[in-house]
Amino acid sequence: MTTVDVIIVGQGLAGTTLSYYLMQAGCRVQIFNRSKPETASRAAAGLYNPVTGRKMVKTWRADDIFPQIEPFYREMESLTGQKFLYSLPIYRPFLTNAERSDWSSQAVQPDYQPYIAKVYQQSSFSGFIHDPLGGILLRQSGYVDLPTFLSATQQYFREQAVYQEEIFDVTRIRFENSGIQYKDYRARWLIFCDGSDGYRNAFFHWLPYRPVKGEILLIDTGKKSNIVFNRGIFIMPFADLYKVGSTYDHQDLTFTPTEKGRSILEEKLNKLIDMPYRVVDQWAGVRPATQDRRPFIGLHPYHKTLGIFGGLGTKGVSLAPYFAQHFVQFLTKNTSLDQEIDIHRFERFYQAIS
Ligand SMILES: Cc1cc2nc3c(=O)[nH]c(=O)nc-3n(C[C@H](O)[C@H](O)[C@H](O)COP(=O)(O)OP(=O)(O)OC[C@H]3O[C@@H](n4cnc5c(N)ncnc54)[C@H](O)[C@@H]3O)c2cc1C
Repeated sequence: MTTVDVIIVGQGLAGTTLSYYLMQAGCRVQIFNRSKPETASRAAAGLYNPVTGRKMVKTWRADDIFPQIEPFYREMESLTGQKFLYSLPIYRPFLTNAERSDWSSQAVQPDYQPYIAKVYQQSSFSGFIHDPLGGILLRQSGYVDLPTFLSATQQYFREQAVYQEEIFDVTRIRFENSGIQYKDYRARWLIFCDGSDGYRNAFFHWLPYRPVKGEILLIDTGKKSNIVFNRGIFIMPFADLYKVGSTYDHQDLTFTPTEKGRSILEEKLNKLIDMPYRVVDQWAGVRPATQDRRPFIGLHPYHKTLGIFGGLGTKGVSLAPYFAQHFVQFLTKNTSLDQEIDIHRFERFYQAIS
């Protein structure tokens, strides 16, 4: 029997980040993961963007979360010797004159100033996109090449002998007085980081997931850029090509790319882009999103040795580093959990089914 502190189920973005910070805190960890191509983390574009949405507002908790992003992925790059962090400005063209004048004053306000590199009063990127009214150039932004990040970190976990390629079978969990037993392992905690599979999880299916499918195109324009363009959709440089995304579908939760997805993306793309392009690939994934758009983090209301770190939704790259550290402090230092992400906010749903 091997004794560890924490068993982690899943090595997507959530499981990787949590495992790393647990190990940093001195915990013995064992990861069980089934590597499959159809996961949110492998499908994702991996963008981190401090100003989002149609109304262009600072993203939730940006001032806490954004300072952690680049240092974490850089640290993982030096740990693994691989490159996957691409710190790039994001350019958001203005749609109206009113928006342009609002941003001219907003950009110098102390709460926005750390995220705004420049305000362009006139078109500056024609030949790439249509931006007749100018736009804002964001900083503290870019993307993480998640497939490379996951392969590199998996290799690291294998070298540390903490990784097992295996489907974790919840029916084999045995509850003990001060932890759980699973096959040849004993652990104090078992934490599920099972992503969009979580809504089928026997212990956490009562949480209000709202999974959402997204589709991405890979296009060739023959032209290079070091800027991500973003308005309605993103056009993100990736090697010599661009990734274009993404769609939001709550009905079809398959990983199959569709004609409908492609035409939604192309319709938006044709309005924004100012260069000829050719679609070279298309894929889809399902985001582990939640009804209130906040992560699911914490311990099970009844089985206190079971936990969850998930529900990262559309913003896993930015949320994972900050909230993994937050959860590790809760587990190892007995600090309290932020109420906005603590799954106890939904305990009434658990009571209703138990
Ligand atoms: C099209 C698309 C575009 C996106 N774009 C962005 C973006 O630009 N920026 C951003 O921040 N986020 C983006 N996201 C969201 C991001 O992908 C997610 O927030 C994040 O990847 C979720 O990671 P996760 O580890 O929770 O889940 P997952 O990536 O799904 O990982 C879960 C892992 O657990 C494993 N697993 C599950 N059950 C078991 C079991 N029983 N036994 C063993 N292993 C198990 C799975 O096989 C998988 O490896 C996008 C998502 C999609 C689909």
